[in-house]
Amino acid sequence: PIYFDYAATTPLDPKVLKKMLEYLDFNHKKFGNPASRSHKFGWIAEEAVDLARQEIASFFNADYREIIFTSGATESNNLAIKGCANFYKKKGIHIITCKTEHKSVLDSCRYLEENNFHITYLTPQKNGIISLEAIKKAIRPSTILISIMHVNNEIGVIQDIQKISEICKKNHIFFHVDATQSIGKIHIDIQKIHVDLLSFSAHKIYGPKGIGGLYVRRKPRIRLKTLIHGGGHERGLRSGTLPVHQIVGMGKAFQIIKNIFNEENKKITQLKNYFWKKLQNIKEIYLNSDPNYCIPHILNVSFNFIEGESLIMAIKDLAVSSGSACTSSSLEPSYVLSSLGIRDDLAHSSIRFSIGRFTTKEEIDYAYNIIQKAVIKLRNLSPLWEM
Ligand code: PLP
Repeated sequence: PIYFDYAATTPLDPKVLKKMLEYLDFNHKKFGNPASRSHKFGWIAEEAVDLARQEIASFFNADYREIIFTSGATESNNLAIKGCANFYKKKGIHIITCKTEHKSVLDSCRYLEENNFHITYLTPQKNGIISLEAIKKAIRPSTILISIMHVNNEIGVIQDIQKISEICKKNHIFFHVDATQSIGKIHIDIQKIHVDLLSFSAHKIYGPKGIGGLYVRRKPRIRLKTLIHGGGHERGLRSGTLPVHQIVGMGKAFQIIKNIFNEENKKITQLKNYFWKKLQNIKEIYLNSDPNYCIPHILNVSFNFIEGESLIMAIKDLAVSSGSACTSSSLEPSYVLSSLGIRDDLAHSSIRFSIGRFTTKEEIDYAYNIIQKAVIKLRNLSPLWEM
């Protein structure tokens, strides 16, 4: 099958793989534990971790001491939200987030709700964007944290984190951004946007799975209650022996993205425009996000008069994501699409194509042909289709 699921995960960039391998075996002598301070194996590993941390910090124009390594964005979101809530609970117990956030944000909030916190889950507008007015209205004297993602993983819509950060700053509320889907796609300069906490993950940017990080602002400082206790690694915020090979891999992935950022985004924009133009030859197809506020890497469309499960079966040569939960035990449509007010049948027939570093025009031509044939065939079988 052809890979159109880069928003789910990406393959390692070959340069990342090469770098990681050096830190695994005996021959390279770089496999040490960075916490081993008494010998060279430890020093070499520590230096590699420091360099990666600096690489990532400089990507955000941040200080290296503001980067905490975690196992991925799920953990970063948990640490940011629960860590902040638990540290500042005497100051306030209200948090604002949005219904279209990733499950790791929503479920962290639900957990806090069971522990006496109050959460406001904002409904975005039809185009997926959260209105600034809605945010302002939701603020209470007890609000301590606002958690809003930068780019949505299903529909690719971009939130105005600059404006939201200004609201937070003015009201003395901490601001957490889940930037997992925006790294390498939209630049974030932490000196220009007042974010207090920012989550990211390596495997969405051609780095390894199982490693990510949390940016934690130092000036003015935000404090967090730790979730994982132990040896006091990562400034006491996240204990556990550092996975050096994963960390150097993530550092390399950031370095590569920094160098090819503009070029890659230009190429992906062209590919997406080409794909969408072709897809519009198909009747009754809907774009599930606002094209003016959407990253080029994600194209989420619904096909009217087609059953989602049949569509997935018919295009199984394409590795895509579906808004239909037919693969799981539930038959619920995507909660993200439902929150936008999209009809259940259209949510079920939605497909998320995500384009990435290795996508080619030929792959798009191939995908279009498969989709077009499948749609015609399935609609001919549908009693509702009379066009
Ligand atoms: N947040 C968003 C927006 C995501 O797309 C993902 C990945 O699916 C995550 C968080 C979780 O990231 P990880 O797989 O690193 O835990």
